[in-house]
Amino acid sequence: MTKTSADYFAEAQQVIAGGVNSPVRAWKAVGGEPIFVREASGCKIFDTSGKQYIDFVLSWGPMILGHSHPEVVAAISSTAQKGISFGAPTQAETQMAKLISEAIPSIELLRMTNSGTEATMTAIRLARGYTGRDMIAKFDGCYHGHADSLLVKAGSGVATLGIPGSSGIPKNIAELTISLPYNDIEAMQTAMERYGSQLAAVIIEPVAGNMGVIPPQAGFLEKLRELTSENGIVLIFDEVITGFRFTYGGYQNLIGIKPDLTCLGKIIGGGLPVGAIGGKREIMEKLAPAGDVYQAGTLAGNPLAMNAGLATLHILKAKAAAFGELGKKAEQLCRVAEKLFAAKGIAVCINQFHSMFTPFFQEGPVYDFASAQKSDTSLFARFFHGMIKHGVWLAPSQFEANFGSFAHSDADISFALNALGNTLKEM
Ligand SMILES: *Cc1c(COP(=O)(O)O)cnc(C)c1O
Repeated sequence: MTKTSADYFAEAQQVIAGGVNSPVRAWKAVGGEPIFVREASGCKIFDTSGKQYIDFVLSWGPMILGHSHPEVVAAISSTAQKGISFGAPTQAETQMAKLISEAIPSIELLRMTNSGTEATMTAIRLARGYTGRDMIAKFDGCYHGHADSLLVKAGSGVATLGIPGSSGIPKNIAELTISLPYNDIEAMQTAMERYGSQLAAVIIEPVAGNMGVIPPQAGFLEKLRELTSENGIVLIFDEVITGFRFTYGGYQNLIGIKPDLTCLGKIIGGGLPVGAIGGKREIMEKLAPAGDVYQAGTLAGNPLAMNAGLATLHILKAKAAAFGELGKKAEQLCRVAEKLFAAKGIAVCINQFHSMFTPFFQEGPVYDFASAQKSDTSLFARFFHGMIKHGVWLAPSQFEANFGSFAHSDADISFALNALGNTLKEM
């Protein structure tokens, strides 16, 4: 008897907490057993039985070039031949910092980490060290990794599991974080009047991806920049998803707003574990060893992650003009999908921004976490399983983003729409 994913999952649960190494992979929100992956190439991912799917999860964003891009694979294997990690400086780290600061001008100095979580955690500590203030503000439904101060009304897996935060976080740490509704200028102004002088930082996903895709409304981020400047607050753009997703640079390049600090991750590691924090020289210089805010990492800036990232960024730089096309492909997919849902009489509001999209199972509009939560998650689960059955791999939660990649061809998009047609027939 050949083993199924259910068998592999049962086996995993014996030795891995919850059977997975990151909660959302367990498919709790949609039910059923998660599919075990054998391999992937381009935009196609294969399960252990050999079934093929068009992948719109892309490791939750990093694989913008598609899986196992030959140049990225070559960079990883040739680097590994020459030593995997040294715990000493290498030129690749300087090349990475140069490339990123050229692409994102607000980044004057950079520090590499091993994950997005480490980057945001460091950003918060740095903002506190720099301002001498303790409180921070975030936005409902935004996810910034799993550090204590940031798991308050967080998105992603926390939203998926429907838990308000996390146990294990001391009350007096959670109390230092205030969380505000996304896209609500008035609430932001009120909070600034009340807490402005006590806030070290405001952290935001400039395009939200972790409550499903929610773009900022006109003027929202501009007002945030204005209010944080007036109050001496460090503005942190968490561009872990959005960095190099829409353009060769950050979302900040597109809107012309300069945050004080930027967090990066995902795409800049080409699929290897990575994160980065960068920003104003004056603030970044507070980091040890130059300054007194401590941060470190045994494997931070390791040669494998640096060279996978450098290969990815070099390809993206050469392709810079093609980002528009990437967004257009996702737009076409979503506009046709909307028509198919409408013809079936299923209320769906598809939020799409460049190559990121989420079909919310409701009339919409969806502009913040509260409106996102009005979605019919059981209908979403049926849709998700239908798409899986018909060979399309989407994020297994209503409150996550799906991604396009440069590896998705027109034929792949047609395949996905065809799968949607077949799924809708069965719903
Ligand atoms: C994924 C993500 C993180 C956390 O990055 P990890 O590498 O998973 O720790 C932080 N912020 C945002 C916006 C993310 O999407």
